[in-house]
Amino acid sequence: MRTLVAPLEEATMMFSLQNAIDQANHVCFMTGAGVSTASGIPDFRSPTGIYSQHPEYSLSADNLRDHPAAFHDFMIHHMYYPQAQPNIIHRQMAAITNRKGTVVTQNIDGLDRQAGTKHLVEFHGNEYDLYCTQCGQPFTLAEYQQSYIHQTDHGLIRPRIVLYGEPIDEQVVQAAIQAITAADLIVVVGTSLAVYPFAGLIQYAGANAVIAAVNRTPLPLPAGGHMIIGDATEVFAALQ
Ligand SMILES: [Zn+2]
Repeated sequence: MRTLVAPLEEATMMFSLQNAIDQANHVCFMTGAGVSTASGIPDFRSPTGIYSQHPEYSLSADNLRDHPAAFHDFMIHHMYYPQAQPNIIHRQMAAITNRKGTVVTQNIDGLDRQAGTKHLVEFHGNEYDLYCTQCGQPFTLAEYQQSYIHQTDHGLIRPRIVLYGEPIDEQVVQAAIQAITAADLIVVVGTSLAVYPFAGLIQYAGANAVIAAVNRTPLPLPAGGHMIIGDATEVFAALQ
């Protein structure tokens, strides 16, 4: 647990993300929807996002159980962007963490996998992992778009994502904690750290870990954290 306040000189020195990455032995990127907006995937929690028209109920376990057709309709019409490609942020994070680190993402869009990220924790799952809840058989997006019923056993087909009202897989939680505990540099990108339990993961940062965040507006970071205000695509494009 992080309890120590960083030395004053660290807090007041000009912070360079490039230097911090160069000096780190293990970098952990904690990411959210803001990383994928540059790939054309809307942030559904933003004021203009789809949550302004649809309640979080649409992506809840209750909706899947009680209204499977409505859940399926919402998923295939609002949640999939199969043409989307990884952007400069995904690619830089993949290059850095494949050498020394891990990406822990809240995104379910699969773009970190597509970018070739080898050390990846998909905290809320991956919406392209589709399976029958009856027999476990995997399905493609094209098949899911046709039907949410497995014709053979009439089982319900669903994405392996964490819905509202569902717990996060304990192995996934442990993998995320391990990545953050091991890191000597933690970089928060594209997330406001407002949604728990993901936001609570930063409490597992080591006492000597350097914490930085890239965001358009300031975030509540632990003491000594470095705030980089700006567009993440520009910040990551400038990295070597
Ligand atoms: Zn089945």
